[in-house]
Amino acid sequence: MAETAVRESHSAIALTDTSGVLTYVNQAFLKVWGYMEKEEVLGKNLAELCNEKEKCKEVFSNLFAGSDIESAELTGTRIDGVEFSIGLRASRIVADSGQFNGITISLADITERKQLEEKQRELGKMRTEFISNVSHELRTPLQSIKGFTKLMLEGKVPDRDTQAEFLGIMYNQSVHIQMLIESLLNLSRIESGHFSIRKKTVHLGNIIRTAVKSVGSLTAQKDMTILEEVPSELQVIEGDEERLIQVVVNLLSNAIKFSPEGSSITVKLENKGEFIVHVVDQGVGIPEEELSRLFQRFYQVDRSAVRELGGTGLGLYISKQIVEAHGGRIWVESRVGKGSTFSFSLPAQRIPERAQI
Ligand code: ADP
Repeated sequence: MAETAVRESHSAIALTDTSGVLTYVNQAFLKVWGYMEKEEVLGKNLAELCNEKEKCKEVFSNLFAGSDIESAELTGTRIDGVEFSIGLRASRIVADSGQFNGITISLADITERKQLEEKQRELGKMRTEFISNVSHELRTPLQSIKGFTKLMLEGKVPDRDTQAEFLGIMYNQSVHIQMLIESLLNLSRIESGHFSIRKKTVHLGNIIRTAVKSVGSLTAQKDMTILEEVPSELQVIEGDEERLIQVVVNLLSNAIKFSPEGSSITVKLENKGEFIVHVVDQGVGIPEEELSRLFQRFYQVDRSAVRELGGTGLGLYISKQIVEAHGGRIWVESRVGKGSTFSFSLPAQRIPERAQI
C-alpha cells in the first residue's frame, strides 16, 4: 500500500544507499529529468544528475554527517538539454539499531517558481527606480516654477517681455507636471482594471496635427522639424480623441528626446484597410534585444541616459493600453545609430454618413 502511494505520487521521490547511489526512483522522479526507464538512472550517484557537482556533494556530505536537509536548490539538465532548477528535501534513513542505511529524497522542478521570483525581483527594482524617476520628474519643473515665481514676487523682473517669457516657461512646466500626474492616474486605472475609453467620431488628421502642435516648444528647443504626411481626405474612426492625441504626443516626445539636434521626424498616416500611424525618427535607435520589452511598464533602455533626459518608462506602456483598447496594435522597428519607427494601427470602421460631416 505505502509502496503504491510512493510509486504513484506526483512528488519525485528517490532512495539512495549510504554513498548517494540511487537504489529506487518513482515515475515522477524520472519525469523531472525526462527519463523513460528506471534502469537509466538506478546505480548512478545522485550528484551525477546535478549540474553543480561540488554543491551537490556538499549537500550530501552534510546528510552523511548526520543532518537532514529541509530545503536545498540545485540545477539539473533534462535529457532534452534544457536546464532546470531543483528544489530538494532529504532525510537520513536510520534503522532502529541506529545504523545509517541511506537517504530518502523528494524533489521538484521549481524552474517556473524561480523564474517568477526573478521577474518579481526585477519588477521590484524597476518600481524603485520608477519612484525615484517620478520624484525627479516632479521636482525639476516645480523647482523652476518656484524659482521664477520668487523672482517675480520680489519684483526682480520688471521688464514685461521677460515676465511674459518666464510665465510661458512656468506654464509649460505646469503642463509637464499635469501630464505626469495624468500618466500616474492612468497607470493606477490600468492596474485596478478601471481603464476605459470614451469613443466619439474623431478625425485622425486632426489628432496628428494637434499632437504635433503640442510638442512645438520641444522641437523648437532642439531646432528640429516634424514633417506630416497625412492624406487630405478625411480619415475618421470612432475613438477617444484625447487618449489618441496622448499616444501620438508620447511617440513624438520620445522621438524628439532620443534624436540629435537639427534632425527631423516624420509622422505618417496610411490607410491600408486599417489606419496606421508611423512616427519615424533619425535618433539613437534601440538595440534589437531590447525591442520586445519596450512596452512593459517602467522599462527604459539606457537608465543613465534617461536620468539625464527625463522620463518614467510609462509612456509606451500606457500608449499600448490605449491602442489595444481601440482594437489596434503598436510596434517598433529600430536600428542602433540610424533611428526608430514606432507605429500603431487602428481598425477602420464603417462610420454612419451623418457622422462624417
Ligand atoms: P520614458 O520615455 O518616459 O522613459 P517610454 O515608455 O515612453 O518611457 O519609453 C520607454 C523607453 O523606450 C525609453 O526610456 C527609451 O529607452 C526607449 N525609447 C522610446 N522611444 C524611443 C525612441 N524614439 N528612440 C530611442 N529609444 C526610445
